[in-house]
Amino acid sequence: MLSLILGLTILMISIVLFFISRRQRRLAGLPGGRVIYTDTRAWGALEKPLFDAQLGLTGKPDYLVEQEGRFIPVEVKTGRTPVAPWDSHIFQVAAYCLLVHKTYGERPSHGILHYPNRDFAVDYTPELESALLDLLDSIRRDERRRDVKRSHQDKQRCRLCGFHKVCDEKLT
Ligand code: SF4
Repeated sequence: MLSLILGLTILMISIVLFFISRRQRRLAGLPGGRVIYTDTRAWGALEKPLFDAQLGLTGKPDYLVEQEGRFIPVEVKTGRTPVAPWDSHIFQVAAYCLLVHKTYGERPSHGILHYPNRDFAVDYTPELESALLDLLDSIRRDERRRDVKRSHQDKQRCRLCGFHKVCDEKLT
């Protein structure tokens, strides 16, 4: 069981959150992201992933930037720049904010999503944190189930999924 929890990665979170994040966002009124300018020269890469044993959560933001004594996680996305951040990306940044808070003891005010043509600040609000913790609980519950059904009809998502080879529900 412990190894299963330890294996819970940000990638897994992204995949699962992709399925349910729209509903969660509706319920929680999550922030959509503010367009900001960022100076990439201030970004510093992490050597090791961040890890929280209590939550069984690990992940490695692409960069950390220090702002007013706090570390802000930065996630770099390639591909098409959306008008507003995808919900799954918002939760991914929220997970990094949580890990940064647990690791360094200072709560980040926000995380940054860096798309090719635009950057967004995602405010790390108590509501977003609470929605994230609910989702982590859902993931753990589903880990114990043997019959988790696919919740989408997106072949491309399955093609890119890390569980594609072993998933009985995949769309091929
Ligand atoms: S391969 Fe399976 S787990 Fe991955 S997205 Fe498709 S249905 Fe979901």
